[in-house]
Amino acid sequence: MTNTTFAELGLGQQLLDALASENYTTPTPIQAQAIPSLLAGRDLLGIAQTGTGKTAAFVLPILEKLSETPTKAVPYRPQAIVLAPTRELAIQIGEGVKTYGQNLHLRHAVIFGGVGQSPQVQKMIRGVHILVATPGRLLDLIDQGHIKLDNISFFVLDEADRMLDMGFIRDVRKVAALLPEKRQSLLFSATMPSDIAKLAASLLDNPERVEISPKVITVDKIEQSVYFSEGNEKLALLAEIMADESLYRVIVFTRTKHRANKVSEYLKKRNVPSEAIHGNKSQSARQRALETFKSGDTRVLVATDIAARGIDIDDVTHVINFELPNEPESYVHRIGRTARAGADGIAFSFCAPEERPYLRDIEKLIKREITNVGERPFMAHIPKKPKASEGQRQGRGQGRGQNSGRSQGKRTAANGNDNQTQKRSGPARSRRGRSGPRAA
Ligand code: AMP
Repeated sequence: MTNTTFAELGLGQQLLDALASENYTTPTPIQAQAIPSLLAGRDLLGIAQTGTGKTAAFVLPILEKLSETPTKAVPYRPQAIVLAPTRELAIQIGEGVKTYGQNLHLRHAVIFGGVGQSPQVQKMIRGVHILVATPGRLLDLIDQGHIKLDNISFFVLDEADRMLDMGFIRDVRKVAALLPEKRQSLLFSATMPSDIAKLAASLLDNPERVEISPKVITVDKIEQSVYFSEGNEKLALLAEIMADESLYRVIVFTRTKHRANKVSEYLKKRNVPSEAIHGNKSQSARQRALETFKSGDTRVLVATDIAARGIDIDDVTHVINFELPNEPESYVHRIGRTARAGADGIAFSFCAPEERPYLRDIEKLIKREITNVGERPFMAHIPKKPKASEGQRQGRGQGRGQNSGRSQGKRTAANGNDNQTQKRSGPARSRRGRSGPRAA
């Protein structure tokens, strides 16, 4: 957070009232830096990821400028367009537009693929000031003549690096080619690979550059620990950790869609309300999962990296890396879900022997060692189907059996203790120091 106020940044009263009603008291660093330049008409290159407050950083000045010269929304011809790589992110940005613009008379629409186009087309026929879109559906509707970009004054490209990952860069260039020369352009990206730097150079005119380092969030705000665990013990470990009720809104990350389903099913069978979210799920299933997670009916959201990118949910108490990502940057993105807009958070990672090199890469990137919770037999304490004892026998076979009776007794005591003494930290904090031998 910063020392400045939203009023000092030059926003009008209606926006200030909306921010107050959302309990935003202070601008985040990206808002403090970006809003005045955008109000002054500059282009912007924002190197920042979701969680920094970047949506408000671009939505607020666009709303301010559009409301200063009020015009009626023109059928088919929006004045501002925001391109986002995923439907989830597009919906979230649309929610931001609605929230921050609650006292203004500006219309907006969110369009994305995977659903019928007719309601989207109806909105364009009535006309919107601000359009939030994913590139594929946008181009479809442009081709059919339902959207025209010749009235655009503001162009925002959000999560440009994710656009590149998902193969949308050609579509983005096609959209950009349809925009009027005279416009204000903004590009946001968490990272700046050379393709994105080139794209930025071609889209932006003498931009203000604002860089918010995600590493600061990681190092300063999030309590991170790692459990060393055989792959076949991880489900039991997860169930054990979830017995702690202070973990009430948890995102679990897996590397594959299949594993996400498996983890979610496992938790459900143990009465932990859980939903999986990944690219194979239908749009409506994903939305439902997000909504029940936001409302608190679903305690655990099990997600793959791509599905989770851009998900904006406050008060995620814990992130659990069921598997470590092979890209260390993904670790930063993942655990960033638990430290939204300045709140601190907690992240646990499960590391199987073959994942140790990933852990080393992550520690190198974040320039800090992740707290080692230890290596223990976990299976013994978890209520399980008879089949699971197979895994337990395997664990013993690997030379860690002599601890299990002792640990089991300790664990019961530890759990009792956890529930009384521990509010936010989850098992890692309270168990640290009595978790038996630390792994090498
Ligand atoms: P974003 O990076 O845009 O996804 O924003 C992350 C989260 O921070 C969202 O839940 C916003 O509602 C919240 N947020 C953004 N700006 C502020 C602020 N100045 N004060 C408090 N919360 C904020």
